[in-house]
Amino acid sequence: MKILLDRGKCTGLGICESFSPEVFEVDDDGALVLRAEVVPDGKLAEVQAAVTGCPTEALRLIEG
Ligand code: SF4
Repeated sequence: MKILLDRGKCTGLGICESFSPEVFEVDDDGALVLRAEVVPDGKLAEVQAAVTGCPTEALRLIEG
């Protein structure tokens, strides 16, 4: 599964990072850094929680 980020919707609050810090990281400027384009092995549940928990619906998962 691939992770898609809509930067136009992201507010950089980092809720996704709290669910999955290995994949999502808010940098010092408040910009979200995607540390993986593809969901790492064993991380699907927490990445899905991050996607669901994003208050601005900036994250999506797609096949691939
Ligand atoms: S939870 Fe959503 S809005 Fe917040 S940093 Fe992550 S992607 Fe951006």
